[in-house]
Amino acid sequence: MISDMKTLSALHPNQLNFSGGPGVLPEVVLRQLQESIIAVPEVGLSILGISHRSDWFASVVNELKDNIRRLMGLSDEYHVLFLQGGATQQFSMVPMSLLAGKTQPADYLHTGYWSGKSLPEARREGPIRVAWSGESDGFRRLPDEHDLELSEDAPYLHYISNETVEGLQFHQVMGLDGVPRVCDMSSDFLSRPFDFDRFSVIYAHAQKNIGPSGVTVVLVKDEILHEAPTDMPGFLNYRTQIEANSIYNTPPVFAIYSVLLVSRWLRDEIGGLEAMDCINTAKADLLYREIDRNPEFYRATVSSCNRSKMNVSFRLSSVELERDFLSAARAGGFSGLDGHRSVGGIRASLYNGMQIQAVENLVDFMQDFQSHRTKNRAA
Ligand SMILES: *Cc1c(COP(=O)(O)O)cnc(C)c1O
Repeated sequence: MISDMKTLSALHPNQLNFSGGPGVLPEVVLRQLQESIIAVPEVGLSILGISHRSDWFASVVNELKDNIRRLMGLSDEYHVLFLQGGATQQFSMVPMSLLAGKTQPADYLHTGYWSGKSLPEARREGPIRVAWSGESDGFRRLPDEHDLELSEDAPYLHYISNETVEGLQFHQVMGLDGVPRVCDMSSDFLSRPFDFDRFSVIYAHAQKNIGPSGVTVVLVKDEILHEAPTDMPGFLNYRTQIEANSIYNTPPVFAIYSVLLVSRWLRDEIGGLEAMDCINTAKADLLYREIDRNPEFYRATVSSCNRSKMNVSFRLSSVELERDFLSAARAGGFSGLDGHRSVGGIRASLYNGMQIQAVENLVDFMQDFQSHRTKNRAA
């Protein structure tokens, strides 16, 4: 069936990678990284063999901290850390510092697969209360402010800005102003401007939107650490990491350098988060419009006001048809379109590095697939 489809404009298969993560990175960054494997121009050594104690690497860390603060409009009240262990480690590190010894429970929102993973990790460290859960509803929507009964005494509120698996995204800040907000922004980090200064802790691993796996960016407002316990493993203690400027032990040098290149690309080539959001919105609109154009064939899976601009999930009328869709898509050069193993269906992730042209190609493919299938059925 591929033979009678429109020929798609030439994009490298790497640019048609709709994977949920690790995600697609800008091609210019990949080229700079390729060069850096042999030698970083200003150093003359391979990025894989430069000491993390060198002055050059200290300047990488400092420039990246600065770039992230500037892109997000945050002051130096926020520490910027580059840690290992992924977002998963933050599921534990946050309550280890902010919940240990507390009697009041922290409020947690259970809005999908990843926030579900954060709950048992937090429970191990202290009391939590699930202030809202979308589980019985199959995680099809997010709560509104008035759905929540939040506690004014909670040590903090934890939630996930973008549920990567389901394709749900908060478009407004949640929570009470008197309660510190802690947010996992792994899958929409640096994708849009936001009131970041209303959060006390923001964390995001790099591998969805801003780099390869191996490093997690953590922004911590200094004041929230005042009551944190001090007798913790150094590696898991935000204070130790702050004092060491993220070079407490050997950090993931390559991953951090990659994120630096992405931050420069965001700043210099894209022009900041506002401009990035325009592009991301245009990409998501294209795809949702195609899904909505024929709801008989492509079925959106989440409530329209909570749709994610990063992860667009949809279904077809049967699992067999979805299988055919995915194999035709693979044959057409697309990859990463399979829904998460926990939910199935189709998911197109449109991270920062994905070009609009790739989404146009996907929409063309969807139209061709649909008209081919509809014709076959009529015949
Ligand atoms: C992918 C993902 C995670 C898991 O991150 P790891 O770095 O693999 O630990 C956590 N939270 C969100 C929102 C994610 O998308």
